[in-house]
Amino acid sequence: NVRRADVLLGHGLQPGDALRAAVARGADHQVEDAANSRSWREANVAAAQGPLATLEEIKRSNLRGRGGAGFTTGFKWEACRNAQGKGRYVVCNADEGEPGTFKDRVLLNSHADLVFEGMTVCAYVIGASQGFLYLRGEYRHLLEPLRETLARRRAVGLLGKSILGQAGFDFDIEIHLGAGAYVCGEESALIESLEGKRGIPRNRPPYPVSHGYLQQPTTVNNVETFCAAALIAVQGGDWYRAIGTAKSAGTKLLSVSGDCARPGIYEYPFGTPVRQVLEDCGAERTLAVQISGPSGICISADEFDRRIAFEDLPTAGAFMVFDNSRDMFEVARNFAQFFAHESCGFCTPCRVGTSMQKEIMDKIARGQGTKYDLDQLGQLDRVLQAASHCGLGHGACNPVLDTLKRFRPAYERRLKALTFQPAFDLDSALA
Ligand code: NAD
Repeated sequence: NVRRADVLLGHGLQPGDALRAAVARGADHQVEDAANSRSWREANVAAAQGPLATLEEIKRSNLRGRGGAGFTTGFKWEACRNAQGKGRYVVCNADEGEPGTFKDRVLLNSHADLVFEGMTVCAYVIGASQGFLYLRGEYRHLLEPLRETLARRRAVGLLGKSILGQAGFDFDIEIHLGAGAYVCGEESALIESLEGKRGIPRNRPPYPVSHGYLQQPTTVNNVETFCAAALIAVQGGDWYRAIGTAKSAGTKLLSVSGDCARPGIYEYPFGTPVRQVLEDCGAERTLAVQISGPSGICISADEFDRRIAFEDLPTAGAFMVFDNSRDMFEVARNFAQFFAHESCGFCTPCRVGTSMQKEIMDKIARGQGTKYDLDQLGQLDRVLQAASHCGLGHGACNPVLDTLKRFRPAYERRLKALTFQPAFDLDSALA
């Protein structure tokens, strides 16, 4: 692990530190407010200050979701807390399925307490009593160690009834194992799967904050987001927002893989240029970097001064390096196969569109493609963008279009030379 920033990976927290900080922060507020309380009703309002004080820190921190989209965490938690419902739920999205992403696996393997701590801080803030960790099926080997961590936390009063002796602070976490479907990383498909149904994305809005698990208010966050929230509960929002850029506070974990001497997990403050990461991981003669996996963006050498940040290159964490020995057409063809395989099949534009994309790429690979096929790839993207039911379809053409734009010769040299001569040449007729 390489750390240009030593925030998350070098946190040094002990189990319970973040929760104690959250509850203590609340206690300060309660003491102040209780002194001013004149009625039972006011005292009750004061009791609610504990979670609110921690929510305030999360909001001040400007923490944004680490699953890739970067939605403001404080806003999400607040909306969930304020939504009407019979119960509230916390869900940790550990269905890390984006090719090239493995930083959540490392957090779950080496920092599980921090993940559960962040979930419990969230439960404290929003008033949830049940949490779920949705674990990617391929991470089954982590199931037992994670269950042991949960048992240890129950034994020391960090989960269960009256956590840290706080009456009414009841919360527990269950682990749900996925079955290997990429689409279940989409939060609403994940919730469907949690409910025991087939993982088909729901229409959003309404968002899970109001209509999530069992149609009740639910906060779904990525593993890394919960870890950051736990740190913020201890160190405060101002500390966190001082790291990174104005629009992207804090640090980002990158899963660095591909053509480099030192692949692995790297932690950087937001705003770090791609060139810096390439230098750190020992990448040479780099042709392209696929940021945030196939549903993200492929950039070429003239863009390596761009920065890892929501305002420039947002990422769920994948940083795949391709050197100049790689054929970017074949890279894109591989990603096209991936999307055709992982389309859940629920909506026709995505089910048919991803297969058509794969077939066109295969046709070009066989030397049977024409310029018409390249145009068709662009048309397909427009259909998938406009008509797909969820983000899988919306992003399924990204790798092909990105590489077509930046590495067009890799496509064109495979095209069949047109032997067909039009009987009538419009250009010369018009001349
Ligand atoms: P989104 O922008 O629709 O939503 C992001 C989050 O914000 C969700 O939790 C959503 O519920 C919440 N949200 C959005 N608007 C809201 C509102 N008005 N009120 C309350 N909550 C609101 O993005 P998405 O479709 O959830 O995810 C797309 C992202 O996922 C892409 O950026 C992509 O890069 C990333 N992705 C990640 C992986 C991975 O393995 N981590 C895999 C594929 C895609």
